[in-house]
Amino acid sequence: MTERFAVVGAGQMGNGIAHVCATSGFAVTLIDVSADALRKALATIEKNLDRQVKKGTLSPEAKAEALGRIATATSLEAVKDATVVVEAATERRDLKLQIFRDLDRLAAPGAILATNTSSISITEIAAVTARPADVIGMHFMNPVPVMELVEVIRGLATSDATNSRTVALSKALGKTPVEANDFPGFIANRILMPMINEACYAVMEGVGTPEAVDQVMKLGMNHPMGPLTLADFIGLDTCVAILEVLHEGLGDPKYRPCPLLKKYVAAGWYGRKSGRGFYTYAN
Ligand code: NAD
Repeated sequence: MTERFAVVGAGQMGNGIAHVCATSGFAVTLIDVSADALRKALATIEKNLDRQVKKGTLSPEAKAEALGRIATATSLEAVKDATVVVEAATERRDLKLQIFRDLDRLAAPGAILATNTSSISITEIAAVTARPADVIGMHFMNPVPVMELVEVIRGLATSDATNSRTVALSKALGKTPVEANDFPGFIANRILMPMINEACYAVMEGVGTPEAVDQVMKLGMNHPMGPLTLADFIGLDTCVAILEVLHEGLGDPKYRPCPLLKKYVAAGWYGRKSGRGFYTYAN
């Protein structure tokens, strides 16, 4: 069966997932409530495809074909022809639960209903549908066209068939799937977010400047990017949302989001996407 994708949410992750679906030969419909987000997503995809053409990793013909495989829609009803739906909307539990209730109503029988959530329980998302066996976590990394990993997360009721189809799909998208079980933050953010949070505390307590913290982790630990640069890249709002899920879900105070991080988010300093976070960006 040739799979047809729908990606719900056209932000930084959604546009990357649609990009990779299209360059891997799959038809994909990118859906967002915001027409402006869809316009920006298409512009970003085209810019990133151009970069691949310039590097010589994609031919101009393949770029045109990839763009031709991407459709856009502002209504969730556009999922009806998809065999795989990947939800990549804002990291908010209430929002994701509502989207999955709607997907349950609108998606074709037998479609995989995957979520790119960074931290919210797959089991809980699956439980609002009448088809929890078809629901799974498919956690891509940012930037999707570049990063090799997909964390594949089974909810309590996810079927073996859904799991193996998702593993195969991740490989068909050129990624390396790693399987994880459904606990808050899964593997990636269970380990990454406490490090980012600790880096924020180090800045808040005056242990070091953001530049110093990032340099220590780059030069001393051989990380390709410092934790605060990475936090700005992920989005500080998304980091707070993930830490709150870890804090609530695991009940351990060590996961409480750093007050400085929360203050930045309250100020609208979301990192790279808003032009300011720990660093400033000329967007
Ligand atoms: P983002 O803020 O860039 O984009 C979210 C998009 O969802 C926006 O365009 C918004 O308009 C859209 N949206 C909101 N409600 C919607 C709805 N009801 N239907 C359709 N679209 C809707 O966020 P992002 O960074 O792309 O993150 C998306 C998801 O991916 C989150 O669950 C996040 O945790 C996860 N994720 C993020 C990263 C990262 O590094 N940013 C990495 C892995 C996973």
